[in-house]
Amino acid sequence: MEVHFLGTSGGVPSPARSLPCTALKRNGRVLLFDCGEGAQRQLMMSPLSMMAVDCIFLSHHHGDHVTGVPGLLQTMSLFSRQRPIRVFGPEGTVTMMERMSSIQDAEPCYPVEVRDLHPGDSLESEDMTILAVGTDHTVPSLGYVLREKPRQGRFDADAARKLGVPEGPLYSDLQNGSSVTVTGRVVRPEDVLGPARRGRSFSYSGDTRPCAAFIEASEGVDLMVHEATFTDDGTDRAAESGHSTARQAAEVCKQAGAGTLVLTHISPRIEDDLVLENEASEVLEARNVVVARDFDSLRIDYSE
Ligand SMILES: [Zn+2]
Ligand SMILES: [Zn+2]
Repeated sequence: MEVHFLGTSGGVPSPARSLPCTALKRNGRVLLFDCGEGAQRQLMMSPLSMMAVDCIFLSHHHGDHVTGVPGLLQTMSLFSRQRPIRVFGPEGTVTMMERMSSIQDAEPCYPVEVRDLHPGDSLESEDMTILAVGTDHTVPSLGYVLREKPRQGRFDADAARKLGVPEGPLYSDLQNGSSVTVTGRVVRPEDVLGPARRGRSFSYSGDTRPCAAFIEASEGVDLMVHEATFTDDGTDRAAESGHSTARQAAEVCKQAGAGTLVLTHISPRIEDDLVLENEASEVLEARNVVVARDFDSLRIDYSE
């Protein structure tokens, strides 16, 4: 699983940073978290394929997070996309997307499914869940937490051999969850498989003040992407405008017991990323803090 930071600015773009867009690549598919203006061009300049985008998760409807959607949808139509794309966001997303579609010359040539999510809603696939978490901004807003379901335990070939299972197709049967019979004796999958192993996990805050629900939902995630619009000297302005400082983001990460913290939504007013990194590092160990730049990417590996 890889996280690609395609746009790491907040509010307005800067020469170095495009508007918010974080891409998560998993099993060849791409999920976008927010889609600010310019996201499609950032995708083209990244190693990701635009056509691999399956879902767009919007944190809220402020322009810096959503204005990339119509252009991206239109380009994919010009490229003759066939597969559907799904767009999720807080209440009002269906209405907003209807309005946005009025600026397009034609309906996209592929299905666009749009759905409003509410805090606590979760989307489930065979091997992962994505939870929408109510966050604390100035308009309805959601963070998202993606967790893979636990993976099967390790196959213990020694145990299998001791139980007399010959190497070959019976190994696969056991790994696929079926019991097998060897010289009249039944060997069950649990006899040769270790305990289930943790899946990988990721959380994305969107724009928010430090938020208890997001801390709780992000418990123990491998990687947390949190907004950090301000440094310490902007603490009051962060509270007024529904944002966080780097230090507050680090406190959120620490309270959630999350692994790596990536700071994004960096105000163009901040001239030196190091200030953000240092302030966050006073709360967390420096090696756990990254200030994202456009086109940075990070891998999330299995911990077990
Ligand atoms: Zn924003
Ligand atoms: Zn906002």
